[in-house]
Amino acid sequence: MLVVDPLTEPQIRSSFVNCSKGEAARLGVPRDLADRPWDDLDYLGWRDPQAPARAYLVTVHDGVRRGIQLRAPGGTGARQQGMCSLCAAVRSGEVALLVAPRAGRAGRAGHTVGTYVCGDLACSLLVRDKLVSGGPRT
Ligand SMILES: [Zn+2]
Repeated sequence: MLVVDPLTEPQIRSSFVNCSKGEAARLGVPRDLADRPWDDLDYLGWRDPQAPARAYLVTVHDGVRRGIQLRAPGGTGARQQGMCSLCAAVRSGEVALLVAPRAGRAGRAGHTVGTYVCGDLACSLLVRDKLVSGGPRT
């Protein structure tokens, strides 16, 4: 499995491939980076606490950090039963459709791609059996 090395806020902000530098500078980065379970993360994912329909995912691919901004269509962040496209877990009431603007010109023209994933972006902990109801297992 992939493991993401601990990331800093500047590394996170500079990793985004599908938003402008201005958007990347303004998005809400987690304040608890030092407390994240980095040894168990295939990607760093989080919901924007100020805008729950917005989500972000940062991982490392071929040695390059890549961040993706995501959003829930309709702005509700609604979750349902289904299978996560990332970790293949079947979860009741925890899977959400998240949509990402495509990178570059296509994204600026409004083209997106979407998939159903764990709405809490906790795939890494789930596949390691370290997720419990209410938060990460300690
Ligand atoms: Zn998942």
